[in-house]
Amino acid sequence: MKGANRPVSEDLERLKQHLPLLEYLRRHNWTAHPAGTAQEFVGLCPLHREDHPSFYVNARKNLFYCHGCGRGGDLIRFVELFRNLSFRHSVAHLQELAPASGSQLLEQAVAFYQLQLQRDAEGARYLEQRGLHHPAIIEELGIGYAPGGNLRRHLATHGYSFELLLDIGLIDNQGRDAFCRRIIFPCRQQGRVINLYGRSVGTAFPHRLLPRSKGGLVAWDSVSRSSSVILVEGFFDLAVLWQAGFRNTTCAIGTHLTPFQFHQLSERSDRLVYVVCDQDENQAGQRAAHQLARRLAGVGVPARLVQLPAGHDPNSYFSAGATAADFTDCLERAQPL
Ligand SMILES: [Zn+2]
Repeated sequence: MKGANRPVSEDLERLKQHLPLLEYLRRHNWTAHPAGTAQEFVGLCPLHREDHPSFYVNARKNLFYCHGCGRGGDLIRFVELFRNLSFRHSVAHLQELAPASGSQLLEQAVAFYQLQLQRDAEGARYLEQRGLHHPAIIEELGIGYAPGGNLRRHLATHGYSFELLLDIGLIDNQGRDAFCRRIIFPCRQQGRVINLYGRSVGTAFPHRLLPRSKGGLVAWDSVSRSSSVILVEGFFDLAVLWQAGFRNTTCAIGTHLTPFQFHQLSERSDRLVYVVCDQDENQAGQRAAHQLARRLAGVGVPARLVQLPAGHDPNSYFSAGATAADFTDCLERAQPL
């Protein structure tokens, strides 16, 4: 029966897809080992005290079963038992963690990181070094800086719980900032922040996203109105192209598009898509770009592969002194498949 406040089953399915059981357990520090098949994991039961692992998770079916206490079910059932919540409250709790939610909290984090960019010279220096200097573009993209070590205290003053920050992935279970010495780019969808991308300015792994959906194509609300679209891999590529006046540039945050991003790009066949690939030595960027252009052509969307000089991505190309006219040349030389 569908009551007014009762979540319908397809909403529940979507919720469970967005936040797989295994992911939820891992965020709560559940340690597991593969059990037999590749999709099955076993570990100590979080629901009862035991010293021999009898808690099984089937990642494909998104279900658990404990041979010790005999309890099993899906993510919602797990939350009911683990947090001692009613079905309705368990769903509400999970909805808070799902990609569409937490938006308010992420908005606060973005504002905080923007402020840090003004206070901490390291962030500004890094942007300058990457050739990004127009304050209006930095402001418009909501770019900030995470020095590390102070986010939790700040968000606590806005009433956000340790638990929520941990669940969203902004801090680790010791309360330390997940983003430390990173330039922060908010990923927005229909105006709402749904994820954060952090580029390391130090030696840490360069790319980092929160453990949630990366959402659609960057700035798609404005870019999708153009009759031609330039698709690049990274935020810095996008930022320098916007700075050079190519406002029809979007980015997929990586070389592989999600089905949703592909859908966005291919929804209109009267639009020309320029795919700009990084000229990697190992050809990874070129291969991914080529594959994407073929997929677009396959659904009737005209695509062109844009070649940059060897070793360059758009960011490094402009940093090395290229002008808007040079890039326009590259666009004009781009070949259809
Ligand atoms: Zn158990």
